[in-house]
Amino acid sequence: MSALRKNIADMAGYVPGFQPEDAASYIKLNTNENPYPPSPRVIEAITAEVGEGLRRYPDAASRQAREEAGRLYGFDPSWIIMANGSDEVLNNLIRAFAGEGEEVAYIHPSYSYYGTLAEIQGAKVRTFGLSEAFEPQGIPERYDAKLFFLTNPNAPLGFTYSQNYIADLAGRLSGVLVVDEAYADFAEETSLELVRSLDNVVVTRTFSKSYSLAGMRLGLAIARPEVIAALNKIRDHYNLDRLAQTAAAAALSDQEYFRGCVAKIKETRAWFSAELEKIGYHVIPSSGNYVFASPPDRDGTRVYQGLYDRKILVRHFTDPKLSHGLRISIGTKEEMERTVQALVEIGPGR
Ligand SMILES: *Cc1c(COP(=O)(O)O)cnc(C)c1O
Repeated sequence: MSALRKNIADMAGYVPGFQPEDAASYIKLNTNENPYPPSPRVIEAITAEVGEGLRRYPDAASRQAREEAGRLYGFDPSWIIMANGSDEVLNNLIRAFAGEGEEVAYIHPSYSYYGTLAEIQGAKVRTFGLSEAFEPQGIPERYDAKLFFLTNPNAPLGFTYSQNYIADLAGRLSGVLVVDEAYADFAEETSLELVRSLDNVVVTRTFSKSYSLAGMRLGLAIARPEVIAALNKIRDHYNLDRLAQTAAAAALSDQEYFRGCVAKIKETRAWFSAELEKIGYHVIPSSGNYVFASPPDRDGTRVYQGLYDRKILVRHFTDPKLSHGLRISIGTKEEMERTVQALVEIGPGR
């Protein structure tokens, strides 16, 4: 189709984690979904919203959800934008800040979707590698990329950058530092204070992992009101439907339930990591709801296949920097016990 823009014709397109049709027959640990159901308040809120009111457009400003988020995070709602999944706001950040041919940067390995979004925009992509100690390599002392995406905690590896490092990086950039905190609820630190103290830091969050709402497509960003105003010009004006808005507000309002789920996942993460080490796996200490682990023979494909044959789905990346290991989402304790048992059966490979 010769009318296509060249960058679209040339690009490969993003491949999300495998969603099998008969998902219920698998232990599904491949897309970092939450093993626990959303808060009962979310189900109640959505159920109450289903009815004749659906003939009306939703609130274009998602006020209720933004007020709830503002209370929780300690920001005025003018600093918050709701998104149809955090992927939507990542996309709109690129559209707002990076023109054709301008530079968008991120760490490799991290979330490769930033690269896909930049390609669609026609922006230039630059990636920076990591040292053995997970320090980013080669970022210029003064760097003029329009946007730098820093996934913290890193996905898929699970380590975190210190807040000092993040503040220092923001100071070196003439553009915007987007801290993608998709997994920050499972970590000990957040960069929300840096959004207040530095004028070029934006934080993004998702409801898909810690709030068990991947199916609702909900995310948000926290940034200075000038940035939020720009993002509001770009987004679809009714980007969150009525069900999503009420679900977001209800989820944020039930912190007791939320904290319980996060605590269980962290406890299971610690147990599972220790069990993997007992059977000779190398495990990177994780601050997310997943661990990146490598078998003794560093053959990720072999173990992926062994687990797949036992109806356990995990994520294997063919990228040479990641192919030696697997990213395994933290499920329930029982799911992780069965996974350990399967890994023992599969064996160390040498
Ligand atoms: C899951 C994930 C997202 C996307 O979140 P959605 O709200 O589901 O769009 C963004 N960034 C990272 C690092 C993620 O792992």
